[in-house]
Amino acid sequence: MGEFELIRQYFQGLGPMAAGDVGVGDDGAVLSIPAGFSLVTSIDTQLADVHFPADAPAEFIARRALRCALSDLAAMGASAHSFTLALTLPAADPVWLQAFSRGLREDADAFHCPLVGGDTTRGPLSITVQVLGLVAQGKAMLRSAARPGDRVYVSGTLGDAAAGLSLLDPNNKADIEDSKHLLDRYFFPQPRFALGRALSPRASACIDISDGLLADLGHICRCSGVGARIDVDALPVSGQLLRFAGEQCRELALSGGDDYELCFTVPADQETALAALSEELGLKLTAIGEIRDGELVECYLGGALFKPVDAGYTHF
Ligand code: ADP
Ligand code: MG
Repeated sequence: MGEFELIRQYFQGLGPMAAGDVGVGDDGAVLSIPAGFSLVTSIDTQLADVHFPADAPAEFIARRALRCALSDLAAMGASAHSFTLALTLPAADPVWLQAFSRGLREDADAFHCPLVGGDTTRGPLSITVQVLGLVAQGKAMLRSAARPGDRVYVSGTLGDAAAGLSLLDPNNKADIEDSKHLLDRYFFPQPRFALGRALSPRASACIDISDGLLADLGHICRCSGVGARIDVDALPVSGQLLRFAGEQCRELALSGGDDYELCFTVPADQETALAALSEELGLKLTAIGEIRDGELVECYLGGALFKPVDAGYTHF
């Protein structure tokens, strides 16, 4: 199978293209942007055995790559428009490609986000997804406007994906139901689009948690020129994580990456509105601390300063 046959067979016609737009098959994609909107773009590379285990099912690898990239759009308050894919493969294995393409199609459909172009090369397995999104002009959420007194919130539960990743090591075991939940949280992060859109008029800053809460809230603080206090007791953890990790669940919730929940800051007078939003979305939204003057993110447990062991993942 040649390069072009491969592209045609596995990467053409994935996801719902807008009428009149041009996708895979030309030198470039041609995409219309509705009046009053800005284009938001973000790119993520996933390397085999750095970001995901190379022997994971190809379908899972594809879906996770797209979902992780889409999460950045959700964190900006944008909606998904389309994506491109730069794929480096060690070999053109039809069984692997079929599964990869099937997984990608499933989520391209689910998130109404067509594949509009890409590049295909041979080498060690690497997947780069560039997502394109739309946000009403001037409405994107940034990291830079958190203010002292703002409440710090997170969506969902934290630490599950890090526990799921650790379960890929056969030495670690959990109850079978818990194990499925934690592994699903690692492989299939849920980009929080509805939440991001609803937060855009309310939140002062927002980020998605890819490298761990401490690291990512740290980005908000640096960009905004503020510090933060986190109440470790308030961190939302799932029953599955609690059973699997016991006391360690706090560390996982603070420093474990890959959850792709949103961490955001809102003025204190938004608390009632957020309770209503949580109800409406059927998604847990938990106040976990406060923005304050300074530059440190400090954690407190039972009134005393709590020093986590690990501060989150960095590549260098
Ligand atoms: P060019 O040589 O003009 O850069 P390519 O030969 O790399 O184009 O790709 C041909 C067409 O296939 C282009 O439309 C490109 O966007 C698309 N394409 C290539 N690889 C992929 C991929 N992995 N997924 C989606 N589209 C792809
Ligand atoms: Mg060309």
